[in-house]
Amino acid sequence: MRRERGRRPRRKVCAFCVDKVENIDYKDAAKLRRFITERGKILPRRISGNCAKHQRQVTIAIKRARNIALLPFIAD
Ligand SMILES: [Zn+2]
Repeated sequence: MRRERGRRPRRKVCAFCVDKVENIDYKDAAKLRRFITERGKILPRRISGNCAKHQRQVTIAIKRARNIALLPFIAD
């Protein structure tokens, strides 16, 4: 029996579904940055909490953003 009142360990819901985002803007680097690690790697779905549809869009958006130098490539 668990009695956590304040903070419930809710199942993570996709941030883009919450905002009803249909198309992720690859120019929105500030938003995309939340889905990359400090090393520039794309966060896996289980960490980002995105649904499959949006995770795919995030991946594409990040790749596009990298190409126009909005986001860093993986620096290793
Ligand atoms: Zn979603």
